[in-house]
Amino acid sequence: MTDHHTALHDSGLTYCGRWLDRAGDRRTDPLWIEATLTAPDARLIPLWRDRCLMAGAPQAPVFLAGASAEAVRQASTEVVFLGLDGDSGVFAADLSGLSETEALHLAGAEHVLDVRTLVGTLEPSEASTLAYARGLLHWNRHQGFCGACGAATVSRNGGHMRVCGDVGCARLLFPRIEPAVIMLVESAETPRRCLLALHKGSAAGGYSTLAGFVEIGESLEDAVRREVAEEAGVPVGAVTYVASQAWPFPSGLMVGFRATATEHTVVVDGEELVEARWFTRAELLAHAASGGRLGREDSIDRLLLHGWLQEGD
Ligand SMILES: [Zn+2]
Repeated sequence: MTDHHTALHDSGLTYCGRWLDRAGDRRTDPLWIEATLTAPDARLIPLWRDRCLMAGAPQAPVFLAGASAEAVRQASTEVVFLGLDGDSGVFAADLSGLSETEALHLAGAEHVLDVRTLVGTLEPSEASTLAYARGLLHWNRHQGFCGACGAATVSRNGGHMRVCGDVGCARLLFPRIEPAVIMLVESAETPRRCLLALHKGSAAGGYSTLAGFVEIGESLEDAVRREVAEEAGVPVGAVTYVASQAWPFPSGLMVGFRATATEHTVVVDGEELVEARWFTRAELLAHAASGGRLGREDSIDRLLLHGWLQEGD
């Protein structure tokens, strides 16, 4: 994508940044969508069952235009409008109805890969756009029927809304985002320590920050306090917002916080966590120096951890 969007990209977190103009005021017009889709400069990203189609040397996700885009469009179960890159429309097409072999052949691709495995090899704009495409196509694919009356639904607004096809019901369906909180819990006393946990199923030494889904009837701060208390038995006082990250795998939004513990005795739940313990900055740096991981490369937990490490005691 072009450089002039760079200024709009602020947090530096993977899958974020306003790389495309989502044109929310224009995508409600089906004639405008059709004209943008069939314009010669339109680009189409094919996806197959949430995965990118890879081609070329070095291998890169396929972005189609012209006749090849037209063929994919005809064979897809859903085409959604992602936004404008300059004046050019960027769309995504769902080939999930085909076999893998058929999808690869149609898109001129050689294999399929999840965008998350491509982090580090993609431009931030590409990672962000492909994750967005994955999330929006996933939502459309799983909203084929109305939850109220069971009738088939129809796409509207370039795939950003669906409407129940039963005229008596005509319920509107909008994409649902599932917020989760992720928090770096810090001790109140000095030297400052942070609380990290070993989750069930994670690799030996794979300590990470605590996280959990927000429940109905909770504020984000409520969710931080409940999760830390439930998982590690630690009561939390102050909760401060740090940053958020788009996490469309399939529909998440990670909301990052710094939280201060009011007591420091740890009692893990034994359900989600195997172990939780306090680390000083020196201990955490030693852990990293001995090959321990400090957050996942594409996740906000790395920002929380590295931000904390950069502060002094
Ligand atoms: Zn309905």
